[in-house]
Amino acid sequence: MSGATAEPPAALPAKRPRLPEWFRLKLPVADAFIATRNLLDDLKLHTVCESAKCPNQWECWSKGTATFMIAGDRCTRACGFCAVSTAKPFALEADEPSRVAEATRRMKLKHVVITAVARDDLADGGAAHFRQTIEAVRAANPGIAIEVLVPDFLDKDFAIDEVLAAEPHIFNHNLETVRRLTPSVRSRATYDRSLSVLAKVKARRGPTIHTKSGLMLGLGETEEELLQAMRDLRAAQCDILTLGQYLQPTHQHLPVIEFIPPAKFAEHKRTAEAMGFVHVASGPLVRSSYHADEFSQIAS
Ligand code: SF4
Repeated sequence: MSGATAEPPAALPAKRPRLPEWFRLKLPVADAFIATRNLLDDLKLHTVCESAKCPNQWECWSKGTATFMIAGDRCTRACGFCAVSTAKPFALEADEPSRVAEATRRMKLKHVVITAVARDDLADGGAAHFRQTIEAVRAANPGIAIEVLVPDFLDKDFAIDEVLAAEPHIFNHNLETVRRLTPSVRSRATYDRSLSVLAKVKARRGPTIHTKSGLMLGLGETEEELLQAMRDLRAAQCDILTLGQYLQPTHQHLPVIEFIPPAKFAEHKRTAEAMGFVHVASGPLVRSSYHADEFSQIAS
């Protein structure tokens, strides 16, 4: 063996940065997690928890909650931050709404979050499928709070109205990032289109519905850009805000530019509340539907 100091091979792939200590989670017991896994397998349902490699999957499933992802697990878009597969989607499954309803009944959920991949291949973007799923869930679980996390439906009025006709309690559509970064972070989406969708929902339904949106932080946005995004959301009368740390799901996805410390998230929460958001969830592990039932509990 040579005594010379070995140089690392130049071709090694860049390592992803080590996660700060506030991401080291205490994992809860596994039984409930396995029960959720079995139930979802039994009913052949997709969740965004799994498809998007959510860091909170273990916690949420262990508490018997999950975010259902309808209309398949193949998305027609390819956002730079998202782990959901991009591929030609399969046809919609007519019995999926009743399977989601059955899952919410078995899980005894008081608050459900239903999301979907972007289905730009469908004229209504999957809006009618959302409506059928909401209606099936409500029929199986009278009194359940229903939150939808929808794609932008290309801002088509008839598609937005189709979802609203089923009267979800919370209409969530994520802005995801600040205006400047939108073209490099989101696929086929525009900042103004997302604001337009949220503003239309509020214009149509006023105080009978809560609108919600969220951004990922750490993608290279400046603080002023974030504040402007929050002001833009308030101008669209968005009620609820989520702010969380972006985490790179694989090496093929956008890199993390910055880890935002918890104290900064707490400061953003105070700022957002002062702007008039009625509920703000802000923290490194916050995701769109993380602890989503907390707002229902506050509002009821
Ligand atoms: S639209 Fe973008 S964020 Fe949503 S599922 Fe598709 S790739 Fe992921």
